[in-house]
This record gives sequence, structure tokens and C-alpha cells, in this order.
Amino acid sequence: MKLELDITPLADWFKNYQKPMLIAGPCSAESEEQMLETAAQIAAFYPNSIFRAGIWKPRTRPNTFEGIGDIGLKWMQEVKAQTGLLTATEVANADHVEKCLKAGIDILWIGARTTVNPFSVQEIADALQGVDIPVFVKNPINPDAQLWAGALERVNNAGIKKIAAIHRGFHSFDNGPFRNAPKWELAIEIKTACPQLPMICDPSHISGNPELIPYIAQKAIDLDMDGLMIETHRDPTVALSDAKQQVKPFQLKEIIDDLSIRSATVDNADFQSKLVELRLMIRKLDNDLLELLAKRMAISSQIGEYKRDNDVTILQVAHWKKLFAESLATGEVLGLPESFIKELYQVIHDESIRRQTEVMNKVKKK
Ligand code: PEP
Ligand code: MN
Repeated sequence: MKLELDITPLADWFKNYQKPMLIAGPCSAESEEQMLETAAQIAAFYPNSIFRAGIWKPRTRPNTFEGIGDIGLKWMQEVKAQTGLLTATEVANADHVEKCLKAGIDILWIGARTTVNPFSVQEIADALQGVDIPVFVKNPINPDAQLWAGALERVNNAGIKKIAAIHRGFHSFDNGPFRNAPKWELAIEIKTACPQLPMICDPSHISGNPELIPYIAQKAIDLDMDGLMIETHRDPTVALSDAKQQVKPFQLKEIIDDLSIRSATVDNADFQSKLVELRLMIRKLDNDLLELLAKRMAISSQIGEYKRDNDVTILQVAHWKKLFAESLATGEVLGLPESFIKELYQVIHDESIRRQTEVMNKVKKK
């Protein structure tokens, strides 16, 4: 993927930036007291964080709580005045952008339900022309890295340089234990295409419950992500949206305190030379693996020819089952988990079948 963005580094606009950048606050603004109390508790242990609250909520069904509306902007101003925290909220159209700019909201983010729609993203980008405000772009609901990249480009093309991507997980048929499947590879794809783009993880919307948040947050840090957005409410049991996944401020403190912060580089010659040595070993082994796979596939092609010449089908279920079971057993002895062997053999077998099909479709040798 190609993604060229003109970006102002985080440290150049976020005063006292320290890793992780923390964005915390309730899913929705509900009352002035709820906002002020939650913000004060967060500011007490993380004064350098950014306070989030949704003011206009894009709910899946109408007649649920669709956000407190414009009055919430006033409460945001009050939060900033009383705690000194920067403020952030979600915008979904030009009207929201204008109201936020007028109210002096510090940071805007585009939500997952908006990123899916290039018309909406463009409308927001147009409303941001000539404005100097940080804008964070959540990944789209569906697992489509191009759509995410496109939204980042539209915002950047409008002249916004303080940009970050927010990874909040994806809707998929197999979400596993998560509310939204993390599909880390999509965040990694974006980060690889544009390494200078700050990446923030939203463990709340990935997890859907507080229990998984520490695990997701640590994994994000281990993947060298720059920040975390964690929904925090003074009393999640009475929250009007996303009640099941919000944490109390003291739980947020525990999550942050328990994180092992690791950096991508370290200024230590011994560490660097050992790392280079280990990486060389891996590189060599990877080459060996690829050579072995090439040899294996060449034999698959030979088998294809042999089957073709004898009018035998490519797939021989009993044989495939036996081979797979044997490999699982070998994997177990070698300490390789079943899930890994399964996925690995799936791709190897697919490629083997593809090759044999190619051979089968060629004219029969005499
Ligand atoms: C939110 O942050 O409360 C929200 C609506 O998130 P998302 O756009 O990721 O669903
Ligand atoms: Mn939410």
C-alpha cells in the first residue's frame, strides 16, 4: 500500500508528549457533573491526558441515546477550564466541525461509522480547510485498510497535518472474544506504509469489556503504537452508551500503571549488536524456509503431472487428513501450537492445489 502523508510529529504539537498519549473520558457526555467528576479523577493521575466525550452519538438504532448535543460543548469548555485537560470529540459532518471549532474543542476525531463513507469524510475535510487542529481518524467498521488510508488522505489534503490514526477494531464474522476483531495486520499495514503517522489504539471498542483492555493495551504498546484511547466513566453501570466496556478512573490508573512501556529503539551498542546478530540468524532461516518451500512446491507440481497422466483427482481427502494429522503431532512435539500449524498448512495446501490445477489444465503429455 502507498500512503504519503504530510505530518507534523506528535511531539511538535502535543506539549509534554510522553508515551503513551492517553485519551480518556466517557463514551458519551451525559451531564456536566458526570464530565467534571470523571475528568477531575483522570487529571489527578494523568494531567497530560486528553479528555474525550462523544457529544453526537452515531447509534446503530434510533430511539437509543443519540448524544446530549450542543450543550455538551459547554461542558467540555468547563472541563478544560477546571482541569487543564485538552478536549476531544467525534465529528460526523460539517455542522459538527463548525460547532467544535467555535467552542474551542482541541482535537476532533472521525468515527468508525463515518470513515466508511468517503462523502462524509470529504464533507468534514472541506469544513476543515484552512484550520489548524489535530484530527484523528478511526479505522472504518469493515476491515478495509484502503478506506482508512483514503480518509487519512482526504483530511491531509485539506491541509491538516496534525493527524493520527485510531485502531478500534473491525466488524467481522469471527470476532472471537472481542467486540470488534483487532486484525492487527491492518493497523500494521497502515503504519508500515506511513511510519511517521502516529497510531493510537482504542482497546475499549476492540474489547467490549474491561477484562480484555489491559491485554489489548499492552499489545498496542508492544507494536510501538503511540497512544491509547480508553473509555472512562465515573460510574459505568449507569452509562447511557457502551456501559459494558467503560472503566472507572481508578481502573484506568491501574491499567496504565501496569503497562510495560517499551520503545522501538534503544541507545545501547551491546543491545543493538546482539539484535543484529539474532536478526541475521532469522534472515538466514527465513531464506532456508523459502528454499524448502520452493522445493516442496516443485514436488507438488511433479505429483500434479503424475496424477494428470494417470487421471487421478488432485484432492485425495484421506491422504490430506493423514498428512495434516501427522504434521499436527510433529508440531506438538516441537512446541508449535495447533492453530499455527493449521493456518500454515492451509496456505501450503492451497498453493499446492493451485499448482496441481495449473498442471492439470495443461495438455496431457504423451
Ligand atoms: C466512540 O468512540 O464512542 C465511538 C462511537 O467509537 P467508534 O467510532 O470506534 O465506534
Ligand atoms: Mn463508545
